[in-house]
Amino acid sequence: MKVLVVGGITAIKEKMLFGKNVHVKFVTCGRDRCACRFGQRHGPYYYRREKTESGRYSDVYLKPQTVNLNFAYAVVGKEDVILDIGKLSDLSPIFESCTVFEVKGPLRGGRGM
Ligand SMILES: [Zn+2]
Repeated sequence: MKVLVVGGITAIKEKMLFGKNVHVKFVTCGRDRCACRFGQRHGPYYYRREKTESGRYSDVYLKPQTVNLNFAYAVVGKEDVILDIGKLSDLSPIFESCTVFEVKGPLRGGRGM
């Protein structure tokens, strides 16, 4: 079954990525012929905002392994995710505070999954 988790991105960031100081960035690389010039940006890249000794904040890049989740998900819109799971109880506990809908059939306007 497929489920739509409202606010799933936020849950992933907060529960899996060491709290709320994690930022997800999609970037352009500046190369002339790259797809990112046409909207397909690179990423996601994860950064953790840390306070330095001088009291400033700096963004520390998190390696993909650090944020490797033990389940696959597709991002919908800005904050929601779609997961393909066997049954509702298989849903990761990190989403326990989210609203979850079962997805039946293809999403309007989306690619078929
Ligand atoms: Zn690029």
